[in-house]
Amino acid sequence: MKKTVFSPPPIISIPIKGCDERFAVRRIFCAGRNYADHIREMGGTDSEKPPVFFTKPADALVSDRHDVPYPRASKDVHHEVELVMALGKPLCCASENQARDAIYGLAVGVDLTRRDLQAQAKKHAGPWTSAKAFDHSAPIGAISPLDKPLGELGGAIRLFINDDLRQDGDLAQMLWSPVRLLVSLSELFDLKTGDLIFTGTPAGVGPVSIGDNIRAEIEGLLPLNFRIQARTECTT
Ligand code: MN
Repeated sequence: MKKTVFSPPPIISIPIKGCDERFAVRRIFCAGRNYADHIREMGGTDSEKPPVFFTKPADALVSDRHDVPYPRASKDVHHEVELVMALGKPLCCASENQARDAIYGLAVGVDLTRRDLQAQAKKHAGPWTSAKAFDHSAPIGAISPLDKPLGELGGAIRLFINDDLRQDGDLAQMLWSPVRLLVSLSELFDLKTGDLIFTGTPAGVGPVSIGDNIRAEIEGLLPLNFRIQARTECTT
């Protein structure tokens, strides 16, 4: 390989339950508008529309039990607890069976959102990049590998702030199942091994504050814990 002018960035990876090796992350895709009660709490009504997709950079990822600095440029950062799929195979215009077969494992994630910037973006029909794809915006827990293909999905999905229950949904409430999301996403992108897909959040989203301890849980998966720290100053 040719030498590069700057050192290449480190490989981003997540621990895997029961495994010494880690899951190397390629890209992070996210679905929005996938639970009717969350669409309603955001002022929407039309649940028939397909979910929206957006991305976060892989280095926005924060591992379990690592601190998240309160992001600058926002006064209203919200939590969104979400089921995350980790892909073990590539997918392009996939069938449902191919999509199901490509899911390596599942994890708990939180799609941190600058709600104030998202509201501005929606008002002007602008992109969500500043609202969604900022540094440290994707805390994610360890991946639980699937021991059999994903079947009917159900189970509690919850988020606590300082032990106070804020989001309390069920995976069965998803409008688009994880497999259908993958089929749809694979029509838009050549999905690759190592890609992560956040699958949307149930109702109960709200602000986080400096000093908050966040715990996100999904039945059957390892929980995700992180703490919101003071903003960090730019050092460069
Ligand atoms: Mn979300």
